[in-house]
Amino acid sequence: MEKRYYEDEKITVTKSSMPSFEEYIEKIKPLWETKWLTNMGRYHKELETELKAFLDVPYVSLMVNGHMALEMTIQAMGFPEGGEVITTPFTFISTTHAIVRNKLQPVFCDIKLEDYTIDEKQIEALITDKTVAIVPVHVYGNVCNIEQIDEIAKKYGLKVIYDAAHAFGETYKGTGIGNYGNASIFSFHATKVFNTIEGGAATFSEPALYERLYNLKNFGIRGEELVIDVGANAKMNELCAIMGICNLPYVKLNIATRKEKAEVYLQCLANCEHIVLPSFEQNGVCYNYAYFPVRFTKVGLRNRVYTKLRTEEIYARKYFYPLTSEAECFGEKYKKLLLLNAREVANNILVLPLYPELDNVSISRICEIIDAECAN
Ligand SMILES: *Cc1c(COP(=O)(O)O)cnc(C)c1O
Repeated sequence: MEKRYYEDEKITVTKSSMPSFEEYIEKIKPLWETKWLTNMGRYHKELETELKAFLDVPYVSLMVNGHMALEMTIQAMGFPEGGEVITTPFTFISTTHAIVRNKLQPVFCDIKLEDYTIDEKQIEALITDKTVAIVPVHVYGNVCNIEQIDEIAKKYGLKVIYDAAHAFGETYKGTGIGNYGNASIFSFHATKVFNTIEGGAATFSEPALYERLYNLKNFGIRGEELVIDVGANAKMNELCAIMGICNLPYVKLNIATRKEKAEVYLQCLANCEHIVLPSFEQNGVCYNYAYFPVRFTKVGLRNRVYTKLRTEEIYARKYFYPLTSEAECFGEKYKKLLLLNAREVANNILVLPLYPELDNVSISRICEIIDAECAN
């Protein structure tokens, strides 16, 4: 009987965190008085202030989503057209698109098998006189080798913009993760650890960058008759900002619950063959447990597990497959690149469901299915 109950439930890779209906409704009520729904309103300011404290960073620029935060932060740096940007192909397509849409050329660097972040030892060999920046990704909340990347950037005069979409709320050596490089970007998409329905932000320490991003996200308008920059529209609206204000107080508790769930997975899968589990043990990193990626070490096993789970209405995801360098839109352009580790990981990785409400019985069931496939 009990089994049927669970079989009826579809389990997705994540579930959006939401405040109670009453809480949100109460908070948005004043908007019906003020009729101020967007354009850097009261709640936009309030959430920026709260996030500065939460992320422990000097500046936060709120955006309509994480992608525009990255695209506009790159634009704000004012790189010459055709400049080369060293980045990872093992990421969400947004990272690569943000570079390409700025008329810059992505130069793909391989990743490390230990934590799937960009292999800092291979960066220098990719630097040319056209290189302008490095855009690394703290993938699954694993932190890049910040010290080495910083050293390389200083040596060659490059900017570093971290895609920290997976690293919300993390600290590295006791400092908020958004403090590293020239800027970091976060995503507040519905599927992320902290959400504003859709949303994102850039964090940084330079006051001039705040001004530039303020211009870019609002058409460059700085007065009724004054347009000082060729911007676009990437402002966060007030209803999204309020969703963020409602969700933020629960983030720490959610992360603690995610940690417990991750530990249940680690225990359940400990004796499984042909599988590499996430370590959550990087030096100095306080994790947010946003994802539970497992890597299979036997050819074809990932796809078998993925399919088997789907037949049981469990929707694990192949984050990230294919590599962004292999996206259809780029045709053959990057297909000859070796990217050995990145390929290996993309072909064998699977992100398992993980969210605070996921019950331990479901986790056990997921693990049993995986265990059975692995032993097969
Ligand atoms: C989610 C995500 C983005 C884009 O964020 P949106 O808010 O969906 O625009 C960028 N990079 C990575 C690594 C992501 O996971």
